[in-house]
Amino acid sequence: MSVKDESLDQPHAVAAELARLYPDASCALVHKNPYELLVATILSAQTTDERVNTVTPELFEKYPTPLAMAQADVEDIARIVRPLGFQNRRSKQLQKMAQGLVEKFDSQVPSGRADLESLPGVGRKTAHVIMGNAFGIPAITVDTHVGRLAKRLGWTTGGTPLAIEKDIAKALPDEDWTILSHRLIEHGRGVCHSQNPECANCALADLCPSAEVD
Ligand code: SF4
Repeated sequence: MSVKDESLDQPHAVAAELARLYPDASCALVHKNPYELLVATILSAQTTDERVNTVTPELFEKYPTPLAMAQADVEDIARIVRPLGFQNRRSKQLQKMAQGLVEKFDSQVPSGRADLESLPGVGRKTAHVIMGNAFGIPAITVDTHVGRLAKRLGWTTGGTPLAIEKDIAKALPDEDWTILSHRLIEHGRGVCHSQNPECANCALADLCPSAEVD
């Protein structure tokens, strides 16, 4: 049973409860360095982190650096990422991103959002994953789970990931942003499902305006 601090406002109380529930939440994409995290994050579009983790060991072994990926036979990249689907598009995207790293950033993954977003295939969500998890720069990652939970918890009515991100940023301090994203994702995967959220078993139910508990 949780003991909630009643001096906290609702977002802080939710964040505290999520911290109790998921103290060790972290990025589920297996990686050893910023380059590997960038590759894995790009691959995670339209698939699951678990599936990405099944193909990246071979990919990173064969192409361990941006230069190796930039110079690879794109058909071999496609062969490796084929289990994820869309392998032709994914392989070209990875190679263009790697070429961008080599040409613009001397094969080093940049830490700034604008630099990251200048790379082919890298949008704000991917940039924030890299900033938060590879460089320790606070960043909110609004994926489908984070967006859904932020709405159900009453933190936002935003219709875009950017609007949702800004509302979360207003509600909670920046030192919480990166790990809060992981904790919301874990709660979304395990309890607050898109269909049939398990409100009756949810530790956030008495804090949540969307709780449906008899
Ligand atoms: S109470 Fe229900 S809607 Fe609210 S966070 Fe929990 S599972 Fe989701």
